[in-house]
Order: sequence, then C-alpha cells, then structure tokens
Amino acid sequence: MLEDIEKLLIEGNFQFQSQINKNPEIYSFDQRIPKYPILFLTCMDPRIDVYQIFQFNPGDVFILRNAGNIYTRDMMRSILIAIYKYKIKYIIILGHLDCGMTKMNLNELRKKLPNKFLNRLSLNYSDLLSKLYDFFKPFDNEIRNIIEQINDLQELKAFFSDIEITGMLYDTQTGWIFKSEDFRDLLIKENHFKIYEGLIFEKNQKLSKFLKLNNNNINEASKEVVDKNQDDELNLKEEIDSLKTEERCIISIREDELQKSDDKENIGFQIKMPKIQVPKINIPKLKIYIPNRVKVKDR
Ligand SMILES: [Zn+2]
Repeated sequence: MLEDIEKLLIEGNFQFQSQINKNPEIYSFDQRIPKYPILFLTCMDPRIDVYQIFQFNPGDVFILRNAGNIYTRDMMRSILIAIYKYKIKYIIILGHLDCGMTKMNLNELRKKLPNKFLNRLSLNYSDLLSKLYDFFKPFDNEIRNIIEQINDLQELKAFFSDIEITGMLYDTQTGWIFKSEDFRDLLIKENHFKIYEGLIFEKNQKLSKFLKLNNNNINEASKEVVDKNQDDELNLKEEIDSLKTEERCIISIREDELQKSDDKENIGFQIKMPKIQVPKINIPKLKIYIPNRVKVKDR
C-alpha cells in the first residue's frame, strides 16, 4: 500500500535527519556544483550505490542512471547541462556484472506489453522486434556494452576537447570496482576465470597495503584482513603462480553456475568440471565471483 511506502520513506528521512545532526559538516546543501567534476552514467540496478561504492558525500558528483547505462539522447541532454553549467570534466560509464539488460528476452516481453504500446512502436508486425530492440537497447555482454558506450560518447569530444571519458566495471556480488584497462582483459576467452581470479588477488593485495597505510582508521574486521594477508601473502602468491601453470582454478563455483556451465551457448566458454580443484588456500575475506555473463563467442 502506498501509505506503508510513505511511512517507510518518512521514517527513513527521520534517520537521515539524525545523521545530519550528527555530522552536519559532510552534508553540502548549498553547493550546486559538484565537489568533483565527475559525472557517472550507470545502470538503474538497485545494488549500485555510487556514493557508497566510492565513499562520496552528498554533493560530490553527478549520477545519471538508466537501464543498462546507455548513452541515449536524453542522457546527452543531461550531460551537456552538466558540462556547460556545472563544469564537469570527467565522464565515467559505470557498468556492472549480472546486468538485467543481458537477460532481456524481447519475444517474451512483446507478449506482455499492451498492444497500444506496441502499435506506437510499429504497426507492422514484421519489424516489431527490431523496433523493440531499438527501444529497449538490450545487450548480451556488460563489458562490451561499456566499451560501446564509451565509443558513442566520443562524439562529445568534437565539442569539448578537454572532456575525458572512461569506463568502470562494478561487481555487484563482491563490491569491487575495476578500471577499464583491467576489465577489458575479461573479454579474452581463454583464461577468463584466471584473469578474474588474478584481478581479485591483486585487489586484495592492494587492499592490504591500503589498510596498512590507513592503520589508524581501520576497524577490527579490517585488521583481521591485514594480519591474515601478511601471513599468507607469500604462500598465496606462490600457490596462485603454480595454479596458473598447472591449469587449475581456485574458484569455488556455486551450484547454479555449475548448471549454467553445461550450456556453452549461454556463457560463451566451457568450465571443465572434473578438472576444477579447490586448493588449500586460505584467502581471508576473499569472495570470488564468476562473471558468468561474459560472452566472447561473437566478438
Ligand atoms: Zn544493469
């Protein structure tokens, strides 16, 4: 019921007010120009909280969202305003793994949509699917989609030569962010898992160093990661190196992903189940997620 929803929202706002009272200095209500000249174009997926992911405060950056972080004409409108009026210099396409736009079945959707809407797209049944495709803009690979959106955005450089555009990939299962030069490698069919595993390993090493540098601020849980990583760092690296040469995989695969692995068409690469071994490596706080939607067959 709408009343319940309103109650939820108003109570949430009470909590927000109490946070403002506790830390009034971090809430900037009088500055319209973002603190950082950054604009994110990201997906509407509710798991993505840009401010939390990057630990921003209100007023720090612009965020535009739509289904699939697609650079559309309306996005262009908002981006132009952000550049002209709010001095934005950096545009980041923030895509994510497990995006719902990769799972969109236009045929099924067509059956659910009202005829009034479908007639607006096309009165001609034969081209309805292509019209639906143009309208909803689904894609089958999140990484390739980020790269395509970056490429489309390059048109802005014709008007604003000093604008810089890049992409980032968010793993909704682990909370890790990958830069463009890292995640592009995930499009490589061979060693797909190992590349991802290597990325996560590197991330955890960097996290250890980061936490050491910020030792005063870390909480007990983080200390645990640092201590564990200090102990295991050498052993872990040696074991990972040996894994790479022995064609083994340290990824523990969830049951549902195992099922999907039977469907080569679906995921674009093959998991050789019997050969997968889980070695005796204790990776503290490390949750490895397999980006099972990365397709490469039609690259
Ligand atoms: Zn998405």
